[in-house]
Amino acid sequence: MIAKIKGTNDILPQSVGEGIFVSQKWQELEAAIRKIAENFRYEEIRTPAFEYTELFVRGLGDVTDIVQKEMFTFVDRGDRSLTLRPEGTASVVRSLIENALHRKQNVNKLYYIGPMFRAERPQKGRYRQFHQCGVECLGSDSPLMDVEVMLIFWQLFRSLGLSGLNLVINSVGCAECRPNYQAELQSYFSDKLDRLCSDCNDRYGRNVLRMLDCKNERCQSILDDAPPIEGNLCESCSSSFDAVRRTLDMLEVPYTVSARLVRGLDYYTKTAFEIIHNGIGAQGTIAGGGRYDGLVEAAGGNALPAVGAAFGMERLLLAMEAEGVNQRLHHGVDFYVVALDETRGAESFKFLNELRCAGFCAEMGEPGRALGKQLKVAAKVDARFALFTGGAEWNEGTLVVKDLAAQQQREISVEGDYLEELAAMLQA
Ligand code: AMP
Repeated sequence: MIAKIKGTNDILPQSVGEGIFVSQKWQELEAAIRKIAENFRYEEIRTPAFEYTELFVRGLGDVTDIVQKEMFTFVDRGDRSLTLRPEGTASVVRSLIENALHRKQNVNKLYYIGPMFRAERPQKGRYRQFHQCGVECLGSDSPLMDVEVMLIFWQLFRSLGLSGLNLVINSVGCAECRPNYQAELQSYFSDKLDRLCSDCNDRYGRNVLRMLDCKNERCQSILDDAPPIEGNLCESCSSSFDAVRRTLDMLEVPYTVSARLVRGLDYYTKTAFEIIHNGIGAQGTIAGGGRYDGLVEAAGGNALPAVGAAFGMERLLLAMEAEGVNQRLHHGVDFYVVALDETRGAESFKFLNELRCAGFCAEMGEPGRALGKQLKVAAKVDARFALFTGGAEWNEGTLVVKDLAAQQQREISVEGDYLEELAAMLQA
């Protein structure tokens, strides 16, 4: 047998063991995403799963971990270097420029859902093919939009029933003020390098800000004492960061400021944020994002301020599982037709079809199969009601309806408007 590639997942119709992703949960999560995106008036964009490598090298920065170590890059038959997208923002920006979306409206609010690919060491919550939902607001430099992007995810996660969430924010400055801070960090770390891990030493020369991100135990106290960026921010970055904090305070969204929050990607400016879940261990960061005022210009467009974020759908589902909130999303079958008479299967099937045409989720047992066995299947698919066709009552124009949770039975006439009666029973 040829097995799936390490770090990828099948999403199956049902769970067949621990750590399996179930398609119904994905559909429900996607429906919740689409609903909240619509409420915030973000429109969907779908871009290709692979792009020219150059797009990511330029867009993410060639000193980032993603570009240096994690991209799935290959040469195609025409000798061009292509890369499976490791994230969504660079492609959205490319598409915005290529299709001149920014000329059609000043502010474009977009969202996407789709698979991303990174050659990382697989573990729970970290995969080589994973899925992200991202939102991007392009064309506005208002700090209110920074907060809007945070709120979409915050409200989505809360509406799904999650509570163990922390919103962490910081400012990473901009091209004007960040170099001063980088110099300050470099001089702070210069006499401590022998006490820091090899990753930190490596980052010291090529991306000193990223040292703050190190998770190695032995580096923590030195990193905690590193000077914060706050004092180095220019007027524009500092007033924007103040406005973000004031707005979050006003909206009563709890958050913490962490001087150690730096995003891995070069194009971030000003606000950076993460939403962390405290119940899923090492891979607890569900969402990350921030402002990237420099990217559109770096990718070949006009200067255009922008802010965006993405969350990992696998990690979100793992967090929901850890909190036991999955049930809230679950809707089983509305009506399970128990077809008692083998010779009248087609009649039951016609009835089943009427239920489906009326918009109900309906399923039918094998006509004539033992009653107990059909009811067992009904319970397995989590049906709310069993409807009996083909028996004595059915012959007299009566439908027997059994509430499977309450184990109560009642009869309704199939001559009247029984579909409305059934709908009312579901609402009750
Ligand atoms: P990033 O694009 O690195 O800011 O990641 C945003 C979110 O995507 C993270 O917070 C994770 O939830 C998710 N994510 C990133 N990399 C992976 C991965 N290798 N496997 C699963 N989820 C990931």
